[in-house]
Amino acid sequence: MKRPKVIISACPDYDVDRIERIIAGGLAELDLKPHGRTLVKPNIVASGKLFPHAYTRTEFMEGVLRALKKAGGQSIKQLAVGERCGITIPTRFAYTEADYYKMAKRVGGIEMYHFEETKQVEIPLYHEGRLRDSFFTPEPIAKADFLVNCPKFKAHPWTTVTFSMKNYIGIQDDRHRLIDHDWALNKKVADLQYIVQPQFIAIDAITAGEGRMLTPIPFDLGLVIMGDNQVAFDALCCHIIGVDPMTVEHIRLAHERGFGPIALADFDVVGDVSLDAAKEKAQGFKVGLIRVEEYFKGTNIRGYSGPPPSNGENDYCWGGCPGAVEEAIEILRIFDAQTDTKMPPIHIVFGAYEGEIDAKRGEKVIFMGDCASFHGDIAGQPVDIVSTYLDRATKSVHEAKHEDIYSKLLGVERLFLKHRKEDVIPIRGCPVSVAEQMLALVKLGKLRNPIFDPQYAFSFNNCYLSWRTRTAIQRIFGNPYQQAGATERGESRPKQNLPPKGKPTPLEV
Ligand code: SF4
Repeated sequence: MKRPKVIISACPDYDVDRIERIIAGGLAELDLKPHGRTLVKPNIVASGKLFPHAYTRTEFMEGVLRALKKAGGQSIKQLAVGERCGITIPTRFAYTEADYYKMAKRVGGIEMYHFEETKQVEIPLYHEGRLRDSFFTPEPIAKADFLVNCPKFKAHPWTTVTFSMKNYIGIQDDRHRLIDHDWALNKKVADLQYIVQPQFIAIDAITAGEGRMLTPIPFDLGLVIMGDNQVAFDALCCHIIGVDPMTVEHIRLAHERGFGPIALADFDVVGDVSLDAAKEKAQGFKVGLIRVEEYFKGTNIRGYSGPPPSNGENDYCWGGCPGAVEEAIEILRIFDAQTDTKMPPIHIVFGAYEGEIDAKRGEKVIFMGDCASFHGDIAGQPVDIVSTYLDRATKSVHEAKHEDIYSKLLGVERLFLKHRKEDVIPIRGCPVSVAEQMLALVKLGKLRNPIFDPQYAFSFNNCYLSWRTRTAIQRIFGNPYQQAGATERGESRPKQNLPPKGKPTPLEV
């Protein structure tokens, strides 16, 4: 493996010409020439006016695409952007709200992939410690010759940070993304590294995002960071914000599996901003990882959590339901500033909880997730909630399913109708997604439902119908799933994409 390099560049604003120059300089410094199927993966989990700091900004992508186009020239067969945005939301909507389509038109010749609408390709896994023997990824990812990872520099409430490696959660469609999206999320992100490694990484750290991932607090960092090795890159970003990369499980695992170095002595750091100067700029940057009990302090919501079913490995489900409720409430706060005032006292319980539940008669107590369990008294009444959690080994990637936002909406309506006279309501799923928890909170607080917000309803439904129509046509005329054949996968795959030497190489099998 060539010695990895990370470049730290100053970039005070979202000037497209400046960003293009910086990216062009980065490609030259790393001696990289885009070629073949060049695919750029942004982080556009949510976008637009309401989520201005959640995504790789449009100006940033424009600068990146322009620079790639010029650097690759005739060597590029296809220059594309591909993403699966937040679960249940059409990627078409995220692209529209971010003006990505208009931007792509300005650059010219850009293919836009919506990963939930493309063929899904099965990738076998062989490494020790894997969660599963295979998983699915969108075909454009599996076939990329030159992958460019363009994340947003953000904190993450479940995995501490979302830099380059964590951006891979968007290379699966919903049904596959939800599998293992629980206490094993970091392990899942580490496993996803076996699909492909990017040749080039450029992170939008101009306005970074603190604290959360969907609704982060803007943090003026004024940097563009580039690199050619995902582990070294993420390690460097951790160093900038004063986090030990070995404490971020997905980074540690990828390092231990040979994907790249973590120690600063093992890779080069260059650029017009020194690491010390970058650290200075990042002083005070707050990461996520706030337990649900703490998160809701001072509001009418009380959070309670017990351990998830992980054989004692974890005392909290960092990748699942508790983090999702934190994101859900933040979305509601954006749409309705009165959210906290309107919310009556409610109690939300996660995992195998054994403590007291301090609810009064008439206050709703929600048991969130398949693994929620409790035996004891609530408001003087005996309550027995039994876990319905199924061991992850029983879940098959071949039978994975997901529900779209309207079936989730109906499901939540039905559930609340069924339990309308009861104070104790179990909401099942593993995980219970951000969307479902948001819909449940809407019911509990009689809040405005963001799905029906008149500003967005037309565009959202338009994108939704477009997505569903396309996937229905695919189902009628061809199988959206495909077992990737060795020749097909091996043919165009460059050496840089392969997992580290000495490790199993799924794409060569
Ligand atoms: S049900 Fe929720 S809290 Fe329990 S293991 Fe699954 S994701 Fe975690």
